[in-house]
Amino acid sequence: MNALKNRLEVIGDLELFLSAAEAPVVAITGSNGKSTVTTLLGEMAKASGLDTGVGGNLGVPMLDLLASGRQLYVVELSSFQLELINDLKGATACLLNISPDHMDRYKNLDNYIAAKQRIFQGAASIVSNREDSLIVQSSAQKNHLTTFGLDVPVQGQYGIMSFKGTDYLCCGDERLISVDSVAMKGRHNLANALAALALGSAVGLKLNALLTTLQGFKGLPHRCEVVTTIDKVLFIDDSKGTNIGATVAAIEGFGSTSGPNLLLIAGGQGKGQDFNELRAAAGRFVKYGILYGEDAQQIQDALQSTINIQRVETVESAVNYAKQSAVAGDIVLFSPACASFDLFAGFEERGRHFQRAVLSSDHTNFNRHDQGALC
Ligand code: ADP
Repeated sequence: MNALKNRLEVIGDLELFLSAAEAPVVAITGSNGKSTVTTLLGEMAKASGLDTGVGGNLGVPMLDLLASGRQLYVVELSSFQLELINDLKGATACLLNISPDHMDRYKNLDNYIAAKQRIFQGAASIVSNREDSLIVQSSAQKNHLTTFGLDVPVQGQYGIMSFKGTDYLCCGDERLISVDSVAMKGRHNLANALAALALGSAVGLKLNALLTTLQGFKGLPHRCEVVTTIDKVLFIDDSKGTNIGATVAAIEGFGSTSGPNLLLIAGGQGKGQDFNELRAAAGRFVKYGILYGEDAQQIQDALQSTINIQRVETVESAVNYAKQSAVAGDIVLFSPACASFDLFAGFEERGRHFQRAVLSSDHTNFNRHDQGALC
């Protein structure tokens, strides 16, 4: 910050990487789904037989991916990395979605959106979510723009269409693969699949490789990962749900239209988010909100007029409460909508705690002190 204030030139790893990369680059950002789409597209490229470097904000840092002989790079970018870049140097750029996040870093939502939109600067082609009203689809991008969305697509764009009672992922009116054949679950993952199809096509990957990968790729750990079913109650680990947008997507992805069926375990560090934005989805699909962690009170304040709330001290207590309260057909969804650093080293450790508690046969350590009255 001091360097910027003193007008010194600040160069980030992204700029160094783009200058050095000798193969085409696909750069992927968004508030949610980056790691899923980056990994999925990397798998598609490998299935197409390309020597592909996959990483960035996920896994291997991008400068460590550089190698001679590479045929493609697929990198995930955070808004922080994009703050320092003015020119994507002809990369294929993808903006998946925008919902408020990192509001403890940005002055306001517009600043966060502006950081994300920087991915379009200097991109040779763009893949963007046409249904996201926060993404500014500038007319300057039209020549090289491909869009995706869960609605019916026009020619050359990606979306979903019904044919004789079966839904298909499509490019225009061409049916590519039935929704049921996509291994990842949840509607938000269909958006991720469509983005990866559009990107794969933009960089010339083989269609067969794209479709085979979609049939086999079940998603990454801690992203709406099915843990187990106990007494007909399904337990889902979405520990990577670290902001409201992700948690709303998970709630809508697993909520039943025939009445609230979710026990939502949430909490942690709220990062300055406005939890009122959880209310509509929670009111529709959540039976109980089981809240723990540093900013549990903020979530309770936003939701207590809409759903039943139970406050607990730990993830383990939350799981035990859920085990005692759920009935057959319910889903226990661990999607915290918060950062994990109040109690854990990161979302992976938090997810492991959840999974261990779910799989533990010891239901007795539920601490009755944790049980306030349902609010
Ligand atoms: P990121 O790398 O952007 O954090 P991930 O692929 O790791 O994204 O997914 C993080 C969480 O975001 C998931 O656990 C899920 O709850 C949510 N999510 C994934 N894809 C989407 C999407 N397309 N739209 C909204 N939420 C999503």
